Amino acid sequence: MTFTVHGLAVSRGIAIGRAVIVAASRMDVAHYFVKAEQVEAEIERLRSARKVVVEEIGRVQQSLADLGPADAHPELAALLDVHLMLLQDEQLTGGVKHWITERHYNAEWALTTQLEVIGRQFDEMEDPYLRERKADLEQVVERMLRVMRGVGSPVVAATPAPGRSDTLFDATVDVPLVLVAHDLSPADMLQFKQSVFAGFVTDVGGKTSHTAIVARSMDIPAVVGARSASHLIEQDDWVIIDGDAGVVIVDPSPILLAEYGFKQRQGEVERERLSRLKHTPAVTLDGQKIELLANIEQPEDAVAALKAGAVGVGLFRTEFLFMGRNGKLPDEEEQFQAYKRAVEGMQGLPVTIRTVDVGADKPLDRAPVRSGEDHLNPALGLRAIRWSLADPAMFLAQLRAILRASAFGPVNLLIPMLAHASEIRQTLALVNKARAQLDARTQLHGIVRLGAMIEVPAAALTIPLFLRHFDFLSIGTNDLIQYTLAIDRADEAVSHLYDPVHPAVLQLLASTIAQARSQGKGVSVCGEMAGDVGMTRLLLGLGLRSFSMHPSQILAVKQQILRCDTTKLATWAQTVLAAEDPAALMAD
Ligand code: PEP
Ligand code: MG
Repeated sequence: MTFTVHGLAVSRGIAIGRAVIVAASRMDVAHYFVKAEQVEAEIERLRSARKVVVEEIGRVQQSLADLGPADAHPELAALLDVHLMLLQDEQLTGGVKHWITERHYNAEWALTTQLEVIGRQFDEMEDPYLRERKADLEQVVERMLRVMRGVGSPVVAATPAPGRSDTLFDATVDVPLVLVAHDLSPADMLQFKQSVFAGFVTDVGGKTSHTAIVARSMDIPAVVGARSASHLIEQDDWVIIDGDAGVVIVDPSPILLAEYGFKQRQGEVERERLSRLKHTPAVTLDGQKIELLANIEQPEDAVAALKAGAVGVGLFRTEFLFMGRNGKLPDEEEQFQAYKRAVEGMQGLPVTIRTVDVGADKPLDRAPVRSGEDHLNPALGLRAIRWSLADPAMFLAQLRAILRASAFGPVNLLIPMLAHASEIRQTLALVNKARAQLDARTQLHGIVRLGAMIEVPAAALTIPLFLRHFDFLSIGTNDLIQYTLAIDRADEAVSHLYDPVHPAVLQLLASTIAQARSQGKGVSVCGEMAGDVGMTRLLLGLGLRSFSMHPSQILAVKQQILRCDTTKLATWAQTVLAAEDPAALMAD
């Protein structure tokens, strides 16, 4: 039966495919397709893993028996019997075989998919004893996954997402897949980038949460904050993700499928049309030259930036190099290589490298909340520059790596979330120290322009201080809005209050842009607002001439710019700025 689930539209486009429900804790399980001729070997890998686990349990049973009746642990013995039973259960083994044979999922993916299917049946059981057996099932699956981790799959290459041009997959499994999960961390998103999925839906998350940001950078349809989507949607259901409207249609009728299939093709035609603007300079009707820069998360994203016609990188979010590594941070050399790849990838165009911004909704790892920490709001805690200044050795290593990369092309160094004069002083002192350390090693480094992100109202209200110390400013509207309006950007429960055109936000934006321009210093916006075509006119009217956004948005924003006259927009922007309800004037 068809039903819809509503969430937040975070990444445009339509994806149609079968749902793959993945538990948050199992996002790190590999997802790829095996070739038809490897299906048998994959099933065998699974059989051997099960055999190893059965033998392990057998050994524990034996040692229990050896203890004799006086030390017998009847509950443990019964539990082991249950585990053995679950391992042999036809629903588990048959189901897993089905996913491998029919869909060509790799063994780990097939196993966790079937775990989800059976887990839901356990959840629905009336008898609490039986319901609790789900935990046992999870344990045996976990043991098998552990065994399989030590035994690699016969297939190593990850298969690209169905629907992409370079697909390797077999015609029999040529079914687009969409991921449905309770939550996806930014680190999960990095794996997602190389995965087989054509779109995703999550229960939680806000419009400018980092998960949503990465989805936009990948340009795949996504809906977040869809509340109980991961419970309502069943494994293998057909779903349509409408990333423009923030709607997920489950089990769609043939008429809906046809309608959305048509919309999907229309989207492709529109993209094709926009791609012709790639070489057109971004100049307004009144001759104002506008700088369109790219936001990137990985050095390899430079390819997409150039393809979209970006004239540089306005924000390289380096924290993605630091995430999902079990706490082992990248050293100076590893970072240097990554930054150098980005710089070289941009072929002489400037690259703005932002120092690490972890914390808040970008934890290093998906670590469980430490006891006593669950009442804290990490967005107000040790994140971004605060985190860097708390560990000077780590920060110096990053600064040295960036300075070294600047010998290979123009680099701007950008510092996130500064608010205090003391933070500015400490940061600048560390930049100088990093330079001195490289000089002492006689190591090559270039000259960088220094920039500060304006993301905290305290910074936006003390712009002269920042202009004294920095060469340019970059306004991080995602955080500036969050902190001005006291709205957690990752919390879908308050997402309706996340308002980019709140008069307070507009005042801060307008005065930051005006002050920087009056001193002849560069100022850009690198938050999501810059890539929102609905905001282009207003930002131009407020005097902005430099925008940094995901490569996927650049051409649409350029199209808007080509139709604008900034002299007219400047007058209009002043009325918006003075209005009680600016949103009401945005369509004028
Ligand atoms: C911002 O806050 O607007 C920004 C660009 O930084 P991030 O989204 O990475 O916090
Ligand atoms: Mg920010």
